[in-house]
Amino acid sequence: MRIFDIHTHPILKREGCGVDAVTLLIKSSRELGITGMNILGDVADQGPSQNATQITKINEDSARLVAQHPDFFTFFCYLNPTLGERPVMREVERCVTRHGTRGIKLECANNAADPCMKHVAKAARTFGLVVLQHSWSMDTHDRAKGNGVQTDPEHTALFAHRNPDVQVIMAHLVGCGYRGVIAAKHLPNLSVDTSGGYPESGIIEYAVEHLGADRVIFGSDLPIRERSVKIGAVLGSRISPADKQKILYDNAARIFDLK
Ligand SMILES: [Zn+2]
Repeated sequence: MRIFDIHTHPILKREGCGVDAVTLLIKSSRELGITGMNILGDVADQGPSQNATQITKINEDSARLVAQHPDFFTFFCYLNPTLGERPVMREVERCVTRHGTRGIKLECANNAADPCMKHVAKAARTFGLVVLQHSWSMDTHDRAKGNGVQTDPEHTALFAHRNPDVQVIMAHLVGCGYRGVIAAKHLPNLSVDTSGGYPESGIIEYAVEHLGADRVIFGSDLPIRERSVKIGAVLGSRISPADKQKILYDNAARIFDLK
């Protein structure tokens, strides 16, 4: 079964992580059946709310990997919506025209329900891009940890509800949980990716039952999570082989126009 991994952070600029590390990552991924990988960037670099120069640097690092291995990598343009409309539009236009990005990635610079998200929706609409939003079911304790501004599943759902003409992906099915599936249920433009947390029995089945397999997309969150474990969670779930194929490859193939 072919696999496309839509949610990865192959951070290969650390000391000792050169060309060999990329070659090894691609080789070991192909051995697992992964034929393509979408890079979301080193989104936690320089804190949760980077300036325009830092944002461009993160995207250029992603674009460099894509340029080196265009047959394996794609990337989503990372943004800080709080910078305002002009910096957001400028960076997206740059990533689309220079690097052919197919989507937008948002992390913890703001909450998905904030007014500044209208700039993101405008950029997505203008360039026909999908928006992948970091999302997690939080509690008061988690919020106090200071990892930037967190987005609950309901906030991502609100963004999708406000922009029915924009395709949105709620990251981290396991982190969002059953609550995330219910928040997404009645929004046809909102999908979930399978990343986040250790595999949890029943959650993929629940997402397929309530959203349909067309709206569940495979993502590992490499290197935070292990690819093989996340693939196993899909392959071991009690859904049809056709639905597994949709989750592991076909849904991403639609987004990226893969053959
Ligand atoms: Zn991630």
